[in-house]
Amino acid sequence: MNITPMIINGCPVGADTTLGVVNLVSTSGVADSAATLGVINPASGEVFAQVPAASSAHVDAAVAAAQAAFPAWRATPDAERQRLLHAIGAALEAHMPELMQLVMQESGKPVNGLDGVGAGMEVAGAIAWTHVTADLPLPVEVIQDDAVARVEVHRKPLGVVASITPWNWPLLIAIWHVIPALRAGNTVVLKPSEYTPLATLRFAELANAILPAGVLNVITGTGEVGAALATHAGVAKVVFTGSTETGRRIMQGAAPTLKRLTLELGGNDAGIVLPDVDVRAVAPKLFAACFHNNGQTCACLKRLYVHESIHDALCAELAALAGRVVVGDGADPATQLGPLQNARQLAIVESFAESARRDGGVFLCGGHRRPGPGYFFEPTIVTGLSDGSRLVDAEPFGPIVPVIRYADVDEVIARANANAQGLGGSVWSADPARAAALAQRLECGIAWVNEHGAVQPDAPFGGIKQSGIGVEFGRHGLLEFTTLQTLRVAK
Ligand code: NAD
Repeated sequence: MNITPMIINGCPVGADTTLGVVNLVSTSGVADSAATLGVINPASGEVFAQVPAASSAHVDAAVAAAQAAFPAWRATPDAERQRLLHAIGAALEAHMPELMQLVMQESGKPVNGLDGVGAGMEVAGAIAWTHVTADLPLPVEVIQDDAVARVEVHRKPLGVVASITPWNWPLLIAIWHVIPALRAGNTVVLKPSEYTPLATLRFAELANAILPAGVLNVITGTGEVGAALATHAGVAKVVFTGSTETGRRIMQGAAPTLKRLTLELGGNDAGIVLPDVDVRAVAPKLFAACFHNNGQTCACLKRLYVHESIHDALCAELAALAGRVVVGDGADPATQLGPLQNARQLAIVESFAESARRDGGVFLCGGHRRPGPGYFFEPTIVTGLSDGSRLVDAEPFGPIVPVIRYADVDEVIARANANAQGLGGSVWSADPARAAALAQRLECGIAWVNEHGAVQPDAPFGGIKQSGIGVEFGRHGLLEFTTLQTLRVAK
């Protein structure tokens, strides 16, 4: 089986021959890895590719390469960096079918997907984010310019950025981290999730054909490799997307060297449906907001609060939609929902179904894994639960959603806010102005009206409370990859 190499200082670094597998000759001067990790297709449960398991020497080599490349990359004129990033966008576009296939195979995400949310959207999003981010300006701000002094504020890169990504949107999240970091003049060491390294490795390979050596390095391995990278003294900033638990560890590990952090962590987004909605019209939108990518998106709708006057009617519509949704192998263009991404996540979702049963939840559909190969779980909707149940209070990150009855809008806002997470939230109503006023009372980083989960490359996105620190996207996101220098010239 082929081993897809890591890239350190512009060179492929593979795995040792002692495993009886192809040896990729390393021209970087860095020894090949002694071990590999298998990559599983979650639709079959079978290993279909191998990547090297990086050692601490690889982590050191990758950080050293990024440090060595930093002075020249920082000094590269802005317009040239922008040109190179647009060239990466063009290379992604030229390899779109191949990247879609890799994303589909390793993540289980269907090619098309429910509501168009699939591998095609992931790769198209990666291209769009690359171009929009490449075009973001980084102007010098003039605070004062008079007879006394000229005072300017400059934005400078930080140095080596460590990017650590999860498995749910592997390519897109890598782009969200890497492109603004490079745009601002930083160099990068990227560590993808051990479950989904392949599309990221291919992206890094394509980018390395365009960028100077050492500007973008990628190493593969488990959380141990992530921890070695995130605590490395040569790293100036960590940008991390993943679980809140890992985010806390990264924050602790950043303290000794005061690393800058952007943390995009878990969410348990509430959606509040007001009694004035058209139930039939709103149901498919709510269903997609809950179930796209099988619920494995940080900003999926995860707690659906529905006014008691329409609760039963909306539940019936949602259950009917669940009955019609096509679950299967993502390779089939008709598939809307694929498998869970990994066996551990499937076990977590099963345990949420178990606790909902124990708490007296009424299952309108689903509730079980599907027999046969692959990590499939039936789309599941549960009513009869309230706050205090695990399925309501915590994030399952899978295709299981509680629909919760409420009577009073002020009370439901308070219930939505009584959660440690604060990523997104939404209000659904025939009166968008009233809904917008209510949405602004939700304690979350992004609030939607009559939709949930939409993001765009020029508007900031990030969580508050325990959903994270900092934002990504647009000017606000770009500035997080910079530090300020105030320059005062006396006259
Ligand atoms: P995870 O935290 O287990 O792993 C994410 C990455 O961190 C992986 O690359 C992993 O190898 C690495 N890692 C693990 N331990 C580490 C450590 N101690 N130090 C450094 N790196 C370490 O998360 P996951 O299971 O891959 O992703 C699911 C979670 O991510 C969910 O909770 C979801 O809500 C969250 N998520 C959030 C966003 C967002 O933007 N807010 C987006 C996607 C996923």
